[in-house]
Amino acid sequence: MEEIDITLKCIVVGNGEVGKTSLITRFVKGDFTDEYKKTIGTDFLETEFFCESADENVTLHLWDTAGQEVFSTMTRGYYRGSAICVLAFSTVDRASFEAVKKWMGRVEEECGPIPMILMQNKIDLLSDSSEVSLKDGDRLAEELDLPIVRTCVKDERGVRELFDTLVGTYFELK
Ligand code: GDP
Ligand code: MG
Repeated sequence: MEEIDITLKCIVVGNGEVGKTSLITRFVKGDFTDEYKKTIGTDFLETEFFCESADENVTLHLWDTAGQEVFSTMTRGYYRGSAICVLAFSTVDRASFEAVKKWMGRVEEECGPIPMILMQNKIDLLSDSSEVSLKDGDRLAEELDLPIVRTCVKDERGVRELFDTLVGTYFELK
């Protein structure tokens, strides 16, 4: 079989505190910690990923926003060359949910129509009174015509599914 090495730059955007850094460290290192920026000091983390739905091996370069969650301070270099994007928000932060469209618009401005996915994180904190419901998430997904995956980065729930769906979409559209 032919070996094809595909590297995809994946950006993870969304308001602060929604779990972007946790997602990346969880996925790449299996840890749940906040410390990697300080210790590694790099722009992205790299990981090999086998996408089951596409039956493809890829190298993912996962770019974190490093606390620059204000639109104006996000550099062009951050977006440049992105192949895929995670739009993250938190179940317990309404403002992060409301901000998704703005993030999406910004990504489209910089990257064009690349495959994106909605990530409703902190699903472990979902309750009848949480700031964002499952229905809210579904409605937004329908409105934006994007897939949505619920995650609890804390216990890794949904994380592989998130990347499998996103990378799968990339290959479908290719
Ligand atoms: P970022 O600012 O988007 O990078 O968010 P962080 O990854 O720094 O996470 C913000 C806070 O939310 C941290 O205290 C994390 O431990 C916590 N957190 C992240 N994901 C989850 C989750 O799925 N469930 C819960 N309960 N807390 C989470
Ligand atoms: Mg962060």
